[in-house]
Amino acid sequence: MPVPETLRRLLKPPITQAWPGLIDSYRPWLPVTDRTPVVSLGEGATPLVPAPALEQRLGRGIRVWLKVDGLNPTGSFKDRGMTMAVSKAKEDGAEAVICASTGNTSAAAAAYARRGGMRAYVLIPDGYVAQGKLAQALVYGAEVLAVKGNFDRALAIVREVAERYPVTLVNSLNPYRLQGQKTAAFEIVDVLGDAPDWLCIPMGNAGNITAYWMGFQEYRQNGRSRGLPRMMGFQAAGAAPLVSGTTVEDPETVATAIRIGNPANRARALQVREESGGGFAAISDEAILEAYRFLASQEGVFCEPASAASVAGLLSRAEEVPAGARVVCVLTGNGLKDPGTALENGSAGFHAGLQPDLETVARVLGF
Ligand SMILES: *Cc1c(COP(=O)(O)O)cnc(C)c1O
Repeated sequence: MPVPETLRRLLKPPITQAWPGLIDSYRPWLPVTDRTPVVSLGEGATPLVPAPALEQRLGRGIRVWLKVDGLNPTGSFKDRGMTMAVSKAKEDGAEAVICASTGNTSAAAAAYARRGGMRAYVLIPDGYVAQGKLAQALVYGAEVLAVKGNFDRALAIVREVAERYPVTLVNSLNPYRLQGQKTAAFEIVDVLGDAPDWLCIPMGNAGNITAYWMGFQEYRQNGRSRGLPRMMGFQAAGAAPLVSGTTVEDPETVATAIRIGNPANRARALQVREESGGGFAAISDEAILEAYRFLASQEGVFCEPASAASVAGLLSRAEEVPAGARVVCVLTGNGLKDPGTALENGSAGFHAGLQPDLETVARVLGF
């Protein structure tokens, strides 16, 4: 198997040259020119980590890899889209960007906008953003507006603001976001040498599943892969409008990154399912948290709850996976984003208030 282009570039000795970020790495595939001022923080080239514990659980020779996109600069895949959206906004002379966010978009928008010398305005649902994400937006220097409504309401407001005032919308309705995000599919094919058989991914606004499908299709059209994956999209049971086919007025789930009742990319997501022969399913919060703990404690990979929906979804559809199939689960965000959920769900091994002596410690250790 020939060494893929991106990998060869990475391996070229001496390994002193840093990864230049995804725009410079995939420039021919992206709508940029020499005049585009690239705003990059070195996003992309995230690890594709084998998942032996999951493979053992699934059996039948099924291979599984985790696309650990929580290792991007601000801790989620949103950086892939934001490097493109902010670079193009800068090219157009924008001085400010705005977004509605369940948290990760605001962190990415804040970081890239400030890096590009622009102001960042973010609207978040008051009380429903994981602590790490809010902390990021504040420290990066965004103006954070917490509104007493859910994400869907916040998005409706920022769309109107961007229409009336001189500020660029950087939600996934911005077409450059999906252009940047499609590079994750390129990276998977570059490493595996072909497309996987299944791609499992969490869905909120369904921009990412749309972007991956775009990436897989473009690579195949250009002979970079032979196949295309079945696109398997998963939502939290309390916020599953793409599964139920209706709008969810009051979405509710522990997976706050996908707590969305009216997905902006609904039509495109349905088209992806159709074209790829894929499937969507709703996953309970219990199953999401079980996968979340399993990934951390058995694979050593700490993702945020929304990301674990991809693995919980795979487990829920396990009988349908063909023997020997190659599966990639997208882990969209870093576990450190949401310390609250982590502390509530990882406390089984926590022994507090111990006397500081050898006898006590040895007893707790079981000796
Ligand atoms: C944004 C986000 C999602 C959902 O992606 P969509 O493109 O809205 O479907 C999933 N997981 C995490 C961690 C996210 O930040």
